[in-house]
Amino acid sequence: MKKVTAFLSAVAAAITFMAPVGQAQAQQKFMTIGTGGVTGVYYAAGGAICRLVNKDRSKHGYRCTVESTGGSVANINTINGGDLDFGVAQSDQQFNAMKGLKAFDGKPVTDLRAVLSLHPEPLTLVARKEANIKSLADLKGKRVAIGNPGSGTRSSVDELLAATGMKGSDFAAVSELKADEHGAALCDNKIDAFFYVVGHPSANIQDPMTTCGAQLVNVTGPAIANLVKANAFYADATIPAKTYPSQATDLNTYGVLATVVTSAKKSDEEVYLFTKAVFDNLDEFKKLHPAFAGLTPEKMIQAGLAAPLHPGAVKYYKEKGWVK
Ligand code: GLU
Repeated sequence: MKKVTAFLSAVAAAITFMAPVGQAQAQQKFMTIGTGGVTGVYYAAGGAICRLVNKDRSKHGYRCTVESTGGSVANINTINGGDLDFGVAQSDQQFNAMKGLKAFDGKPVTDLRAVLSLHPEPLTLVARKEANIKSLADLKGKRVAIGNPGSGTRSSVDELLAATGMKGSDFAAVSELKADEHGAALCDNKIDAFFYVVGHPSANIQDPMTTCGAQLVNVTGPAIANLVKANAFYADATIPAKTYPSQATDLNTYGVLATVVTSAKKSDEEVYLFTKAVFDNLDEFKKLHPAFAGLTPEKMIQAGLAAPLHPGAVKYYKEKGWVK
């Protein structure tokens, strides 16, 4: 009897000891957002969203983390492979992935689902002051960074070059530097110019403009006008004067929208609480980066979203009366 009692109390003690651990394991769920370089705006967007998701961690049990990645195309492919839950992606790359075009040639990402859209991303050309680059045509014979493989920038620039009839061989050198590296490379005179499809202001553009007088260059002309006309995901874009302290005049180019995507395989519960975290706290979110200042729910739930909305997002939008 004594033995049995001792055994039972040992079991009881073990159960008492284990119960909280068991509960914590059941509750601890992870949510990872793929972004871009740490000096870009996607990384800031992911960080802002995770901060809002994690505020309610005790209620839903998800721990949100941000991952720095190669950018849009890498994010879509990694989500599709099941190694990321959410990702930020350019609207043109979301479209290409749905249709199996360009970087997704012949392989439509049929499980891709849209959650919301974010800030505008003008295609931005930044040049060394001394390189005397005033237009796209002036890139001939220069050393140009066209974006790392896996970035949305790279895919958009490939399309831009094709539309303008320019080839890599027109440049003195083509570089695939990552966005986190292109500013320093410009100031170190290793490249003459770089392209970056990004929200503004972006730290890795601000830096070379401040450090070595780098300048923004207009991306305009008849070929660009045709490109914008032919593709619904492109629109004319302006980077207003003084977006960067040394920027004297408006800069004209064209661009896309940043969007957030996920997989059809993700649960409605997870996508719902992600969506709710952003929209329930939209005023706070908009204050976390100047690029988010113009965001409105009306635009965010439909602009630039070529993939079907995930049902978890739709659930929130219905609750709000934003969709039928
Ligand atoms: N649009 C860029 C890309 O997909 C990333 C921009 C950013 O990190 O803010 O490559």
